[in-house]
Amino acid sequence: EVRFEHVWKRFGANSVAVRDVSFTVPAGTLCTLLGPSGCGKTTTLRMIAGLEYPSEGRVRIGGRDVSALPPAERDVSMVFQSYALFPHMSVLENVCYGLTVSRRPRRQAEAAGRAALESVGLAGFDARLPSELSGGQQQRVAVARALVLEPSVLLFDEPLSNLDARLRRRMREEIRELQQRLGVTVVYVTHDQAEALAISDKIIVMNQAVIAQEGTPRELYEAPANAFVAGFVGEAN
Ligand code: ATP
Repeated sequence: EVRFEHVWKRFGANSVAVRDVSFTVPAGTLCTLLGPSGCGKTTTLRMIAGLEYPSEGRVRIGGRDVSALPPAERDVSMVFQSYALFPHMSVLENVCYGLTVSRRPRRQAEAAGRAALESVGLAGFDARLPSELSGGQQQRVAVARALVLEPSVLLFDEPLSNLDARLRRRMREEIRELQQRLGVTVVYVTHDQAEALAISDKIIVMNQAVIAQEGTPRELYEAPANAFVAGFVGEAN
């Protein structure tokens, strides 16, 4: 479970990126943070990851107050928009990197890395370089690299925005399928309404640093709380 309790994030004196936001993502569910550019969704995700710290309020993961903890102590891992793969390392080395940093014995790390690659459909790609993979395959490597750490919470920051429309649709189904198979809690940032409607147990719509509405895809679609949500969610159709 991921929980925000009256979280604020200020950048400097005049900029509020997140304003008194509270929500709960139940364990084992996929929740999207949906909203237009600049609404505060990436900052929210980064505060779950420990890449930003709240100015006020609490962030809890599995009930534990992690507000002041560094990323490595949070039991979360993040898949970035740019994938952030190391170009000079093989696929397997990329996936195992986090385990070698934490001094896991090499053979054990590689076995875990191969298992993670297999779970994203990339068995046999160990020795390739990232540049020898398609965009979708690179994205899967980034997912495997996050999975290998066996986090209880997986974070995605617009993971499909570099892919073409057809591949985006396929990859979002793969991510959803993987999430359900592993039972992992996922928080997924997107500005794409169709994507959010297709994969989420719950959608949190953000606008101008606050939550405009939260609910199941069906609730948001059938009973938008205000004109912003109606316009934004409705654009998908
Ligand atoms: P996008 O989809 O464009 O990434 P977003 O919804 O993820 O947008 P955030 O990146 O969370 O929005 O940004 C929210 C607000 O906080 C924006 O006004 C942004 O300019 C500001 N902001 C974010 N990070 C910083 C920072 N490091 N320093 C100053 N202002 C920031």
